[in-house]
Amino acid sequence: MNSRRNFLQKLAASVAAFPLLSVETLASIEQTGSLVQDGPPLRVAIMGLGSYGTRVAEAMKDCKRARLTGVVSGTPAKITSWQSKYNIPAKNCYNYENFDRIKDNPDIDAVYVITPNALHREHAIRAAKAGKHVICEKPMALNAKEGQEMVDACKKANVKLLVGYRMHFEPKTLEIVRMRKEGELGKILFFQGLSGFAIGDPGQWRLTKELAGGGALMDIGIYSINGARYMVGEEPVWVTAQETKTDPQKFKPGVDETIQFQLGFPGGAVASCLSTYSMNNLDRFFLNGSKGFAELQPATGYGPIKGRTNKGELTQPHMTHQTIQMDEMAAIIMDGKQAVVPVDGEEGLRDLKIIDAIYKAVATGKKVELKLL
Ligand code: NDP
Repeated sequence: MNSRRNFLQKLAASVAAFPLLSVETLASIEQTGSLVQDGPPLRVAIMGLGSYGTRVAEAMKDCKRARLTGVVSGTPAKITSWQSKYNIPAKNCYNYENFDRIKDNPDIDAVYVITPNALHREHAIRAAKAGKHVICEKPMALNAKEGQEMVDACKKANVKLLVGYRMHFEPKTLEIVRMRKEGELGKILFFQGLSGFAIGDPGQWRLTKELAGGGALMDIGIYSINGARYMVGEEPVWVTAQETKTDPQKFKPGVDETIQFQLGFPGGAVASCLSTYSMNNLDRFFLNGSKGFAELQPATGYGPIKGRTNKGELTQPHMTHQTIQMDEMAAIIMDGKQAVVPVDGEEGLRDLKIIDAIYKAVATGKKVELKLL
């Protein structure tokens, strides 16, 4: 009763604050947890000023709770340009050699690691040792062993570790999660995840085993792995997987081009997924239950996400993913807010355990049992 009263009070306040949005929209925003409450800002240093780091910085301009206050970069020219673009003082700028000194900087609460995959472990652990909360891009690390080390280091340093799972805050995604949780789809029987794109430049770090840790699975296939878990609402107990490679010149040993994998869930549901670096137009989730279905296409791109269920089209409003993500992460770190779909280090670690199992299933041709709980 109390929570309903709180909800109605918040809704009334929201109507006053956003008079142009319908009550339904506000109710939906409230249900999906993306209406950010006031509070102290999370002051963030972005590490790795590349393509995604730039996207996050732009999105943060519209944040209510998160603020870009620092950078860590190996490229002095980028530092200079970010300083003037985002009004960042020189004392909040670091490189990879000296960023441990961020420890003494009271203007930075968290470091957002947006460097190539193989660097996440070292960068996150150093940020944690400097006493800063860590937000780390996906995949959190190269494998579960590294991921566990990051979780342990953040625990030891008493800082939070979050993974940049932006879809966990996306309104249409969360509406499907709500429907599934409330039984509107019935017993969940099947999930299909298609994640892929045709990758360009063969010289990029995403195609080197040393920096990427693998191929499409680490980069884009992880969306289907993670999506299968939050769509089905259970942790998989087995994995089977098959790899195909049409271009061994471009996709060197250890860099997967295409992997199909299947996940089995304790309730009996099965997921069938495709991860690839050699096909476009592959961004689709489909969830089937005994009473209904839900589908998203595109499912994980930058949006707008489109989707429908057996009840009709999903109409939740599009919001820039990284803006909601950073506001919500500020609330998680600063206020202890719980995400509807977790974004903590344990969540990232589970995906890494599944990735390890998929590569093992490819290598052995056998079904691999999983124990995630
Ligand atoms: P980019 O190559 O565009 O940027 C990576 C940046 O990391 C570089 O610009 C550089 O910044 C820094 N860096 C440090 N060391 C190296 C190195 N040895 N080689 C290359 N770059 C280095 O990559 P993205 O921004 O696309 O990806 C970065 C991370 O973000 C990846 O883990 C990726 O999976 C993730 N990502 C997540 C997305 C999402 O939607 N959640 C979308 C896209 C990427 P500087 O010069 O400042 O040091």
